[in-house]
Amino acid sequence: MARSGSELANQAAAGGRRSAANPAPLGLLGGTFDPIHYGHLRLAEEMGEALGLAQVRLVPAGLPPHRSAPATAASQRLQMVRLAVAGNPRLVVDDREIRKTGPSYTTETLAEIRAEVGPDAPLWLFMGADAFLGLATWHDWQRLFEFAHIAIAHRPGYRLIQSDALTDSLRSEVEHRLVDTPPATPAGSLWRFTITPLDISATAVRERLRRGQSIRYLVPEAVRTYIEEQKLYP
Ligand code: ATP
Repeated sequence: MARSGSELANQAAAGGRRSAANPAPLGLLGGTFDPIHYGHLRLAEEMGEALGLAQVRLVPAGLPPHRSAPATAASQRLQMVRLAVAGNPRLVVDDREIRKTGPSYTTETLAEIRAEVGPDAPLWLFMGADAFLGLATWHDWQRLFEFAHIAIAHRPGYRLIQSDALTDSLRSEVEHRLVDTPPATPAGSLWRFTITPLDISATAVRERLRRGQSIRYLVPEAVRTYIEEQKLYP
């Protein structure tokens, strides 16, 4: 069952007491999730598995600062994420950005989570290659590495590190942070991982819905039913 951010904080604190010498690593996947689809879910599941993470938190953005307003209410995007992860013990929902009133800055979210899990737990921020290529436009992005590692997933249609799309500032971070093997340290590295390539985007899902086309098998069935019942993306 999905848990709220404060419940998660309590759980993290309890986890810290259980294994203070070797705190559990944690994965985080932020996104607009408008709507959540199987591309997001495979990213969270495969990265979590590859890194041996017992928990990956999906963090829906309240008001994403670096993109246009989502098509759907925050509460509905949150509900779709909850439906999507139900029954998977590895994936949990962290609703802290939705509960905030202002814009959601990932660096601030990571700073909060770091304060909750303590200085030693490895934190992994997951993102697709497209999101990584835009990282230098994020608020205070270089500070992300103080709080977490970044794990980049290949995404169909996006070339990664060799890409001409890398800005100079991003390229220099890549050059000194990229590692072949995920470290056990708390933060500061960049790691790439190839997941099952799924060329699914929320934009394409919304477009299909607007054209009256099927989205079956692009999103979990519970999410598809919710979209239908709530008449989202008309
Ligand atoms: P939109 O089409 O509305 O821009 P999106 O499908 O890219 O949405 P987001 O919620 O913006 O979804 O993405 C959240 C994170 O998931 C980002 O880091 C993004 O790169 C990653 N992601 C989304 N879809 C995929 C996919 N098919 N494969 C790998 N990563 C993905």
